[in-house]
Amino acid sequence: MSSDPHHSIISGLSSDVLEHTEVKVSKCYQCGKCSAGCPLSEEMDFPPSVIMRMLQTDNPDLEEKVLRSFSIWVCLTCEMCFARCPMSIDIPKMMDYLRERSLKEKKANPKAKEIVAFHKSFLDSIKYTGRLYEIGLFIDYKARTLKILDDLALAPKMLKRGKLNIFPELIKDRSGVAEMFKKSSKKNNT
Ligand code: SF4
Ligand code: SF4
Repeated sequence: MSSDPHHSIISGLSSDVLEHTEVKVSKCYQCGKCSAGCPLSEEMDFPPSVIMRMLQTDNPDLEEKVLRSFSIWVCLTCEMCFARCPMSIDIPKMMDYLRERSLKEKKANPKAKEIVAFHKSFLDSIKYTGRLYEIGLFIDYKARTLKILDDLALAPKMLKRGKLNIFPELIKDRSGVAEMFKKSSKKNNT
C-alpha cells in the first residue's frame, strides 16, 4: 500500500494521470497562474487551472468533459504553465496523456479534428522513420483531413529552399524507436 496519504484516496482519471505521468492533481491549490500565463487559454473551453480542478473532483461527469474538451488539443506543450506553477505541476505532460487517453476512448473533440489528424500523422512519421519526414507528414495529414489541395502550392517553394525532404531519412536505431512506441502503447494500453 502506498505511504502517500493522497494516493490512497484518489481514483479514476486523476489516479491514471498520476500513474502515467507522475502528476499529482491534488497538489494544485488553484492559484490560477497557469491559466493566466497560458497563451492559448482564451481558445480553450476550460483553461488549465480549471482542468486541474475538474480532475481533483474525481467526478466521472467532469472527467468525461476533460477527455472530450477542446483544451487538451489546443495545448501547444509550450510549458509556460509548468514554468509558472508554484507547485511545479507538469501540466504539458498531463495534457499529453489526456490526448492519448481521449484518442484511445474515441472521445476527441470534433472541433479538434484537424489537430487530431496532425497529431496522428506526426506520431506515425516518427514511428515509421524514426524522425520527422516532412513530405510524408504533409501527405498523411492532408489525406486524413481530405484537404489534399490546400497548401500544395507551397510545397515546391519549400523544396527549393531545402525545407522539405523528398525521401525519408531513416535513423539507424529504428528498432529502438519501434520498441519505444511498443512500450508506450503497452503502458497506456493503446
Ligand atoms: S503547455 Fe499548454 S496549457 Fe500549458 S501554457 Fe502551454 S498551451 Fe497552455
Ligand atoms: S499554477 Fe499550478 S497550483 Fe496554480 S492553478 Fe495552475 S496547476 Fe494549480
